[in-house]
Amino acid sequence: MNHLKKVLREHNFRITPQRQAILQVLYDCRGHHLETENIYELLVEKGTKTKKIGLATVYRTMELFQNIGLVSRLSMENLPARYELVIHEKLRHHHLICLQCDQLQEIEERLTDDLKMQILKEKQFQVADQPMKIYGYCSKCQ
Ligand SMILES: [Zn+2]
Ligand SMILES: [Zn+2]
Repeated sequence: MNHLKKVLREHNFRITPQRQAILQVLYDCRGHHLETENIYELLVEKGTKTKKIGLATVYRTMELFQNIGLVSRLSMENLPARYELVIHEKLRHHHLICLQCDQLQEIEERLTDDLKMQILKEKQFQVADQPMKIYGYCSKCQ
């Protein structure tokens, strides 16, 4: 949490109670991928200080967090975007997205190393270090 607050401060953003509350939710759910509405619901569930946070505030705040690299945004076809906290030790990973139940799983970057090598060899095309989205069917939906 302290690191996250430091990033905010470094970008000259004040740590308002709203931003702090949203950060806390993201931190508590680290490793998960949340839609803006999920974040809002979690804030409501936690109650107390969130009375002044509307859904629009959460949308704006997530945009801000994304701009300064605190969260990464995963845009999804026909679905709301999901956000996840960017944590140092697991920066790069790819996502497997189930076309049936929208479940989202992460895979380590190294699993795609062979594929990248193959593409480079056959197409002389160097794949960028960007998270990939791979669509398919999860074990339950197959
Ligand atoms: Zn599924
Ligand atoms: Zn992820």
